[in-house]
Amino acid sequence: MSVRVVARIRPLLEKELDKDIIVHAASTEDGKPSTLVKIPSPKNGAEEFTFAFNSVYDQQTSQEELFTAEVAPHLKSLFQGLDVTLFAYGVTGTGKTHTMRGGMKLAERGVIPRLLSGVFRRSKKIAKDTNGATTVTVALSYYEIYNDKVFDLLEPPEKRTPTGLPLREANGKTHVVGLSERPCEDLKDFEKLYIESNLNRVTASTKLNAHSSRSHAILRVKVTQVTEEGVLESTASAIDLAGSEDNRRTDNGKERLVESAAINKSLFVLSQCIDAISRGDRRIPFRESKMTRILSLGQNNGITVMILNLAPLRSYHLDTLSSLNVSSRAKRIEVREIENEIVYKQVPRTNPGNVSGVPRQPLRP
Ligand code: ADP
Ligand code: MG
Repeated sequence: MSVRVVARIRPLLEKELDKDIIVHAASTEDGKPSTLVKIPSPKNGAEEFTFAFNSVYDQQTSQEELFTAEVAPHLKSLFQGLDVTLFAYGVTGTGKTHTMRGGMKLAERGVIPRLLSGVFRRSKKIAKDTNGATTVTVALSYYEIYNDKVFDLLEPPEKRTPTGLPLREANGKTHVVGLSERPCEDLKDFEKLYIESNLNRVTASTKLNAHSSRSHAILRVKVTQVTEEGVLESTASAIDLAGSEDNRRTDNGKERLVESAAINKSLFVLSQCIDAISRGDRRIPFRESKMTRILSLGQNNGITVMILNLAPLRSYHLDTLSSLNVSSRAKRIEVREIENEIVYKQVPRTNPGNVSGVPRQPLRP
């Protein structure tokens, strides 16, 4: 299993209708989904570059179609104990937040509320099918990485410490130390929490005279299944990355430069990790930014979907090319699909380090 990398081209906004479209999904024979993105060379308009992805979604793709094709199939795996990571990558204004969060109207809802809706639906079904023998609980964490510092979005901005929260590695995963977690019973619960914490994000960034497109936002959905047998925990993470544009080109204020350096650095490290993994290097520079430590691409056990968001406009030309370059290489990353194990209620006392003899089958609802 490798990282699945898909591209999504957004439609033109009303104010852009007279603008030049330069990014296209290559057309395919009768109805087959496209896998190629075409874009002209910036130096020679007659020459065209082609980038290959696992799938390419054109301007007409609805939120529901994207979710059904790219996220819904992984819900089953999540409940079987696999961790699922979904992240949106791309230049500011290309539709990352639209893809992940989406609009308020039902049809416009993005990947995140649909994911939660699917998780709750499945949880209820499991409880019903097992006559309540299996209980499923869902808990949320939500945080952002801004200037390489981690801030809890479930807490009000006043409670932030200037240094942010530290990271720690345990059991092959990176954890945020002191991150809060809230139980979430249903979609209503989730929406309330999500709206509140997104307001925290806006308030915090306004205080700093920053913009939310400059931080990485990470939502973590922890699913815990408890049966007679034991406890199985798995997580789905949905990540709205900071804009991948070259901020040095657009900003010149002093704070902006610090900020841009941090954004550019974490996204630059991400692209270096992608390159190193796709080349098969032994040393992957994960540790060089908090975002890449958390993402630990190719290191985490589970399923990863990278969504490259694209605006088809000429004004994005160079940044679009650079994001196409980075993400099309990410396709070659191998992800080990290892299920989280049930933590058994009774571990043999005589030899705590050895649980052999205890069946290690993951739960299969
Ligand atoms: P980003 O988070 O990458 O900066 P946004 O998600 O804020 O970009 O999108 C920029 C603008 O484009 C927003 O007004 C958004 O509503 C609109 N938009 C993006 N993708 C789509 C889409 N698939 N369909 C309709 N509008 C879209
Ligand atoms: Mg955004």
